[in-house]
Amino acid sequence: MKRKAIFPGSFDPITLGHYDIIKRGVSLFDEVIVAIGINADKKYMFSLEDRKQFIEEAFKEEPRVTVVTYEGLTIDLCRKLDADFILRGLRNPADFEFEKAIAHTNRKLSQIETVFLLTASKTSYISSSIVRDVIRNGGDYTVLVPDSVVVKKEK
Ligand code: ADP
Repeated sequence: MKRKAIFPGSFDPITLGHYDIIKRGVSLFDEVIVAIGINADKKYMFSLEDRKQFIEEAFKEEPRVTVVTYEGLTIDLCRKLDADFILRGLRNPADFEFEKAIAHTNRKLSQIETVFLLTASKTSYISSSIVRDVIRNGGDYTVLVPDSVVVKKEK
């Protein structure tokens, strides 16, 4: 059986931190499915199409990475795509506390295991919200994201 992992998130936009987790995920799993969650209450800087395209472009040489969008529970998506694992990155204690509750809940509701990778020290400080702040204020965001992330117009 193929080992498939879902890497869920907003990816608004994908950062070098996400990129590192996906790359390392590919060495652990046969397939990594990056799943962009759609939350109707959230305001995003980048459209769903752009967010998807940035990730696809960044991994165009890696056929074992695919990108999907979804609504609803991540465990339901896992069942639908026949994936037994959820992949998440941990940056700091706050991430850990938050992720712990979600992972326990997911285990209560399903058989799905969450696998955590500690972020690479080089990218541990990067978050999509900081990247958005840099973009809004005209800073050089390109050192924080893969080359595929391009800001087309003033946001
Ligand atoms: P969410 O809306 O779930 O916070 P994100 O797109 O911010 O979505 O994050 C998705 C996943 O990527 C989470 O597991 C998060 O911990 C991880 N992640 C975010 N930034 C980094 C980083 N710099 N290094 C490693 N993992 C990260």
